[in-house]
Amino acid sequence: MQERSIAIDGPAGAGKSTLARALARELGYLYVDTGAIYRTVALRAREAGADPSVPEQVAPLLEDLDLRMDYGGDGVQRMYLSGRDVTEAIRENEISALASQVAALPAVREFLLEFQRKQAREHDVVMDGRDIGTVVLPQAGVKIFLTAAPEARARRRTAELLQRGQDADFDEILREIRQRDEQDENRPVAPLRQAEDAALLDTTNLDLKGSLEALLTLVRERLSL
Ligand code: C5P
Repeated sequence: MQERSIAIDGPAGAGKSTLARALARELGYLYVDTGAIYRTVALRAREAGADPSVPEQVAPLLEDLDLRMDYGGDGVQRMYLSGRDVTEAIRENEISALASQVAALPAVREFLLEFQRKQAREHDVVMDGRDIGTVVLPQAGVKIFLTAAPEARARRRTAELLQRGQDADFDEILREIRQRDEQDENRPVAPLRQAEDAALLDTTNLDLKGSLEALLTLVRERLSL
């Protein structure tokens, strides 16, 4: 039911996924990470040797795209491409940039719209992404726009990648984050922007605990919990 849904939008590295997951656990909701869906399409494009920014190369891949998402008993969202578990593979840093490119293609956005809405019809969801409050779930009961200064976001992303054992250079990540913001904010279809009825939460100076408390306060107020 859309009216009970919680939509969280914002730029990369603002803490959306960590906070959305914690919020979902707190409320007994399902956490739907829509970025993972775009990332899976990007992986498919890369494996097919398609240029992720060329509609004529990506659109045909959608016709027989075998994309599945499921949740184990732990509530963790796993992504499958042609039956293969790609949950870890889509977290590669290169996939972030490719995802932002495929996500700018109208054919891809249209194709994934119903896939995302279906989740909110079947479950109470906390859904995060870039256009959830504006396009995917415009009737969501709570809309949050979660942001933070680019430097704070780059710092978090660097720490996250290092923790996963991947290479990470702060300056390079900051540059990539700025580039991805620019691309996500300026694309003609479903650009990243705060919905008029969304509450703004800036986590630049908040740690995880402080951010979660602020988020819970906003959600409880708005859902009258
Ligand atoms: O959130 P995450 O960084 O995993 O998303 C990867 C990319 O997918 C984003 O940079 C954005 O371009 C795209 N995306 C989107 N709409 C969403 C979720 C993600 O355009 N709802």
